[in-house]
Amino acid sequence: MRNEKFDVVVIGAGVGGGTAGAILAKKEGMKVLVLEKAPRVGGRDISFNLKDESRESYKRLLADAAYTWFFKSEPDLPELFSQGYLDGYAFEAGIHTLMVTEKGRTNTCLAYLGKPLTLYPAVSAGWWNGGQLYHFENGSEQGGNFPWMDEKDRAECGKINSLMVKMSAEEAHSYDHISMKEWMETRTDNANTKEFHYVNATMNCTINDPANISAGDNILMNRFVARAGKRFSLGGCSTPGLPGFVQIPRSLCEVIEANGGKVVTGARVKEVLIDDGKVKGVMVDMEGSEEKIACPIVINSGLVNEMFRYIPEKHFPYTFVNRVKGFWRAGIGAVYFGLDRQIVKEHVTFTPKIAGKEDGFDSDVRMGFWDSSGMDPGRAPPGKQLLDAYVSLTDKEAHNQELANLAYDRMMAFMTDNYPGFKESLEWALYTVSDSLVPVAQAPFQVGDARPRAKCPFVEGLYHASDSSECSMAANDAATHAGIIAASRVSKKDYVEEILPDYAQD
Ligand SMILES: Cc1cc2nc3c(=O)[nH]c(=O)nc-3n(C[C@H](O)[C@H](O)[C@H](O)COP(=O)(O)OP(=O)(O)OC[C@H]3O[C@@H](n4cnc5c(N)ncnc54)[C@H](O)[C@@H]3O)c2cc1C
Repeated sequence: MRNEKFDVVVIGAGVGGGTAGAILAKKEGMKVLVLEKAPRVGGRDISFNLKDESRESYKRLLADAAYTWFFKSEPDLPELFSQGYLDGYAFEAGIHTLMVTEKGRTNTCLAYLGKPLTLYPAVSAGWWNGGQLYHFENGSEQGGNFPWMDEKDRAECGKINSLMVKMSAEEAHSYDHISMKEWMETRTDNANTKEFHYVNATMNCTINDPANISAGDNILMNRFVARAGKRFSLGGCSTPGLPGFVQIPRSLCEVIEANGGKVVTGARVKEVLIDDGKVKGVMVDMEGSEEKIACPIVINSGLVNEMFRYIPEKHFPYTFVNRVKGFWRAGIGAVYFGLDRQIVKEHVTFTPKIAGKEDGFDSDVRMGFWDSSGMDPGRAPPGKQLLDAYVSLTDKEAHNQELANLAYDRMMAFMTDNYPGFKESLEWALYTVSDSLVPVAQAPFQVGDARPRAKCPFVEGLYHASDSSECSMAANDAATHAGIIAASRVSKKDYVEEILPDYAQD
């Protein structure tokens, strides 16, 4: 690479950097170099078919790029691998599901780049309330048809719903820095309405406590789902077909390479070289050998919380450095359950409280689970069920062994107590914990204009494109948004307007 010239260097082969790089390579004819520190592309979108993986490489890949660690399993990990328990299953770093199926930002952008996904949408859903499971199918909950609510509750819930769906993006952003709890409690005192929207907000934002959820970002997510014509039990989320989520960053890298670019794995950017307020290139470490690559444009897709590990902080104002270092993360505890038959009938299910403050958590802990193999039968051997369950954890909770363990016990207890036959049919369970499903949690003062801008105002030639930089909402759709915004800033064209439908732009 020493003698090659590149127009753009992208740090990281995840969704954000891949999206920016692919647009610039394919649409702007720019020569793009992607440098990825991990041995594979994907970042946090990393999928496993553990038959092809060793125990060591599984754990290393989780840690290298997915900000996730193996916590425990039943039976233990050596036995899971050696006895072939996981053969025929395919899964991700932890539970993964894509928002709004084919109409989400991720697939819309991939389709624009000529790489649409094959998606398996959720078409049924479960909701636990008062110890009872309510079943919905093909959008049967449409119009607030929630059997546990009386007429007054439904009218109130519908009112709040329609406030969110009809709201302009500008108004939604005006609530970026106030909490969901505050927004809700100044509009209704109806207990069932609050409970419904708080559970929903937790599932949208991976934050349990509504006092920590940005009202603006959560409203944007709800209006996005509804305006796309999706429902909880009708394409509100989906899973991509095998090989799984990793095909998203892989497809983006393929677009870059097909358009004259290069993707190098095992290449850690040690430093972004900056002189006189301008980007000059990067210093990269490739298996022990260092190389300097000159380039006037660098797009950083690593987590912004960690940018000062390789972008010297002396180039930024003190207030900016402090703000970025202070962002807290939203993590999860995620269990994959391998069952010898289908026990859970719904594709996606939400439950109310399974633990709370009295147990040492920040607030009520809610649980969600997905019937992965029900949506995509290729994810489990014939006749078996792969179920992904999770709870949201703050970064502090994720690093607290006792709480992470308790979260697992409560998820296991909930399934065993509420689903007849669950215990008998359980062949294995694999528990991972992550502190960075959402590296900059969607909390007040952490979303919207609080995030580092796609075009850095302090260093010429430096851009950010990740789910923790300028974008709205969460996860893959946020990273895609960030990548499209960064490509727009570099090219000075409006790719947000060109690629995304109205409801997905803000
Ligand atoms: C357990 C878990 C569950 C999740 N569940 C969902 C879900 O259900 N739905 C959903 O949509 N999303 C989910 N996500 C989030 C989703 O995976 C991310 O939002 C998305 O992958 C982020 O892409 P990104 O490009 O912003 O960042 P990343 O994927 O983190 O990519 C950044 C890349 O930069 C590389 N990098 C960093 N520093 C350097 C350096 N110095 N040199 C070279 N390379 C570097 C990293 O190795 C990484 O590959 C989940 C994430 C986790 C961890």
